[in-house]
Amino acid sequence: MFKKVLISNRGEIAIRIMRACRELGVKTVAVYSDADANALFVKYADEAYHIGPSPASQSYLNMDNIIRAVELSGAEAVHPGYGFLSENPEFADRCRAEGIVFIGPSASAIRSVGSKVEARKTMEAAGIPVVPGTKEGITDIDRAVGVADGIGYPVIVKSSAGGGGIGIAIVHKSEELPDAIESTQSVARSTFGDDTVFIEKYLAEPRHIEFQILSDSSGNTIHLCDRECSIQRRHQKLIEEAPSPVMTEELRAKMGASAVEVSKTIDYENAGTVEFLYSKGDYYFLEVNTRLQVEHPITEVITGVDLAKEQIKIAWGDELSYTQEDITINGWAIECRINAEDPLNNFVPSPGKVKRYRSPGGPGVRVDSGVYAGYTISPYYDSLVSKLTVWAQDRSEAIERMKRALFEYIVVGVKTNIPFHKAMMNSAAYQSGELTTHFIEDHNILEDVERLSKSEKAKGESLASALTADDKKIAAITAAVEAYIHQKQ
Ligand code: ADP
Repeated sequence: MFKKVLISNRGEIAIRIMRACRELGVKTVAVYSDADANALFVKYADEAYHIGPSPASQSYLNMDNIIRAVELSGAEAVHPGYGFLSENPEFADRCRAEGIVFIGPSASAIRSVGSKVEARKTMEAAGIPVVPGTKEGITDIDRAVGVADGIGYPVIVKSSAGGGGIGIAIVHKSEELPDAIESTQSVARSTFGDDTVFIEKYLAEPRHIEFQILSDSSGNTIHLCDRECSIQRRHQKLIEEAPSPVMTEELRAKMGASAVEVSKTIDYENAGTVEFLYSKGDYYFLEVNTRLQVEHPITEVITGVDLAKEQIKIAWGDELSYTQEDITINGWAIECRINAEDPLNNFVPSPGKVKRYRSPGGPGVRVDSGVYAGYTISPYYDSLVSKLTVWAQDRSEAIERMKRALFEYIVVGVKTNIPFHKAMMNSAAYQSGELTTHFIEDHNILEDVERLSKSEKAKGESLASALTADDKKIAAITAAVEAYIHQKQ
């Protein structure tokens, strides 16, 4: 096994990977920006290297500085986490050229699905169902209008290099299409440096269902069942669950086989996710995420497989620890992404100092976080406070458990979307399991959020005022406790 691994990421996912390393007896190296000098993941690591100023472009995206930290530390491998350089084929290539193991797929596998247009073509050729749409990127607007008229409206214009829900436009009429194409092209150009866009039929009442895959260097590939990620805002996932409420054994076998086929088609190695849209009994390939996903914990808790450890073992050259027959589903899992954002003000990020923090516990509760009382959530990166995952025997118990965990959660100092999650768990429509990607727009969730935010605010105020006098003492105690837990081993 590797002796030392560098994690080129930050926050909760850096800690998640370091936990896997600690259990495998592997030493860890953190890299950090100015803004993260006091972050938990830096304390958790056995060694840490400063790689630049706070903006990600100068630190977590700075390949030269990361490679230099690998060299200085003597780490043999790099785990990229999610986001930042995790799906950058240049970085994967660069690591390999320098003799560093990149814990992830090959650069060519990343490239083969990095362009959605190319990925659609590859999958269609391999017999995987794709959403009806344009075969190539749009070069001629009149022709594109012709294709869209043929498919029938509504259609969705998507950026080929897109990610994170950016560069997407839904179009209901032929007349609106030229403008939508131009504006999507311009967003794609400025965000991704590639203005290729394409058109797909906009599916009615789609569900986002994805399959976790694992593949080793000996060519063994398995899937670890499904996750439903339909609860999204602006195409960004907020609540995920596993398994999908709509899944049957028959459908799982079919979609799982497609996911494995996708993986084999691109010679994929390591952990990955094949995303599908599901609508009215049919499913369509959406994209491949060539990394560990934010929502991987729900798969871990229902299958018992430690995905982060499997990734490291695969990169080391081990064969998979599991066969497809070993993978069974036990119970139900739900994950809420707890973000520092204001659900009553268009979910704008609410970075700042966390004054009080107490995460929930008890049976079936898992919290992945990099936050503690006294920690400042930086405006430079995502506003994730934690991923709150619950496990239970079935879906209704999981919902009750999530309600209980949300009730126990105390975050004072920054606004969070906890009231939104409470409203969701209380929603009869959510409880029914009839989900679509526009669930939030279709149901009156925000009204309930307003009411729940008031009680959350009152709770925060009473807790803040009760303890103000002891602020410094509490911060000192918390810091000492965290430093002890996270001390270098
Ligand atoms: P990104 O890479 O930016 O996440 P995706 O292609 O994965 O973009 O799509 C993000 C989300 O947009 C999906 O989860 C779904 O909610 C919606 N979406 C994408 N394509 C379609 C489609 N053809 N019909 C309906 N909704 C779609």
